[in-house]
Amino acid sequence: MDDLLIGIDLGGTNLRVGAVTPQGEVLDIISEPFDAARGPQVGIDKICGIITALRDRTMGRGLRGIGIGATGPVVRERGVIQNPYTLPTWEDVDIVSPVCNRFSVPVNLENDADAAALGEYWMGAGRGLRRLAAVTVGTGIGTALILDGKVYRGAEGWHPEGGHMVIDPSGPACYCGSHGCWESLAAGPAIALQAQAVAAQEGGGMLRLTDGKLNLIDARILVKAARQGDPPARRLVEKISTYLGLGLVNICMLYFPDGIVLSGGVMRSYEVFAPGIQQVLAHHDAVVPMDKVKIVKTQIEGQSGVIGAARSVLNLIEEQAL
Ligand code: ADP
Ligand code: MG
Ligand code: ZN
Repeated sequence: MDDLLIGIDLGGTNLRVGAVTPQGEVLDIISEPFDAARGPQVGIDKICGIITALRDRTMGRGLRGIGIGATGPVVRERGVIQNPYTLPTWEDVDIVSPVCNRFSVPVNLENDADAAALGEYWMGAGRGLRRLAAVTVGTGIGTALILDGKVYRGAEGWHPEGGHMVIDPSGPACYCGSHGCWESLAAGPAIALQAQAVAAQEGGGMLRLTDGKLNLIDARILVKAARQGDPPARRLVEKISTYLGLGLVNICMLYFPDGIVLSGGVMRSYEVFAPGIQQVLAHHDAVVPMDKVKIVKTQIEGQSGVIGAARSVLNLIEEQAL
């Protein structure tokens, strides 16, 4: 039966490729660190190799289609990734043609946040929500909107980049040309930088966790130290929670969605940031009833991007059949 879907979540830190049934069940998933700087050719070969391995492991099932959710900017219609920042060296890279040529099935390219949102709407915490927002917090911050089951697309198909809304104009410079963007304050690498600065100044639990090695301090170490009650780590978690909360407030103020689903590596630690996030939301409920927006962590951790990417190629196939 040729019904197997492949969903690919291509991020700045991690690559996940899954074999997904047409019902949205993940049969198998392969996750690997991804080093974009080795170049698009190496990256695409690696992706094709993993697809082949997955196909061989799900014996007897032929491929129906391949969906790729990639950290943006992506140009969907041309199947091109234009992201020299989160994916260094990936400038104007046609990823769809080589994958399509190799496997001879329909291939669809989406922005990774759009893919995650589709996954949440199809199989995750966003099921049944007519106005669903999704936020992925990983190497960057991606945002997406699903309206009545359909991905909201901007003019000429461009994907809106909520990760670059300015939260603090006096904040750090961002590669996009602005200052204090949401992702330059609250994405994984931004958290790591701030945690290293705090540890350098105040010492404490984070440095103990890395045997004194400053450069090993990242978002995970910060969370661990905060969980152990380390005061500098707790203060920084509060600050990051405020940044995360402010971005979510802006999304609520703009769209007032039924729900916002949070995913991505940093949101694995949602529980640590949640009290601070909730406090910020509660502070901004004078003009809209913030508590009506269901803010939840993904229930399909590490899989929403893969499931949604698979869904995106199913949508493409269905559209083409009409
Ligand atoms: P991408 O999709 O951009 O490749 P991921 O969504 O896989 O990235 O997230 C990677 C980021 O999440 C890294 O910056 C990493 O430090 C951070 N991270 C991973 N696990 C955790 C965790 N449990 N708590 C906090 N941050 C985490
Ligand atoms: Mg990602
Ligand atoms: Zn920016």
